[in-house]
Amino acid sequence: MAYTGRCLCGAVTLRIAGEAVGAAQCWCRQCQTSAGGGPSNNAIFMADSVTIEGNVATTGWHAASGTRPTLDFCPACGTHLCGRSPLGPGMMAIRIGVLDQPHDLVPRMAIWTEEAPAWAVIDPALPRMARQTPEDGEHT
Ligand SMILES: [Zn+2]
Ligand SMILES: [Zn+2]
Repeated sequence: MAYTGRCLCGAVTLRIAGEAVGAAQCWCRQCQTSAGGGPSNNAIFMADSVTIEGNVATTGWHAASGTRPTLDFCPACGTHLCGRSPLGPGMMAIRIGVLDQPHDLVPRMAIWTEEAPAWAVIDPALPRMARQTPEDGEHT
């Protein structure tokens, strides 16, 4: 399946030629802050399958892991497009909300649930990880 997408104002468009290698929602504090309170919902693609056209701005933060995850967004309308982490080189976490419907992408797990607010409603069918992965405390 090929995917297309766009930001809220249309200044940035996306085309994705490959299949997603995963999809997850992230409840880390940084995602809650940037997403307005809920999780970010992301489909993970290999970066070389993603084409982004238009002017894109990038911000980032210093994570507890010592790495610096980044977030690409449209500087005209503020729509979040994708996240990248040094922990996942060559991969892009595309925000599912920017992709044109219909598509087949749904979160398959919930991560960083230990940071979710008490009022969070998380699909009980989704596998949960308190942090990023079962074995580490890396924070992206
Ligand atoms: Zn825009
Ligand atoms: Zn997150």
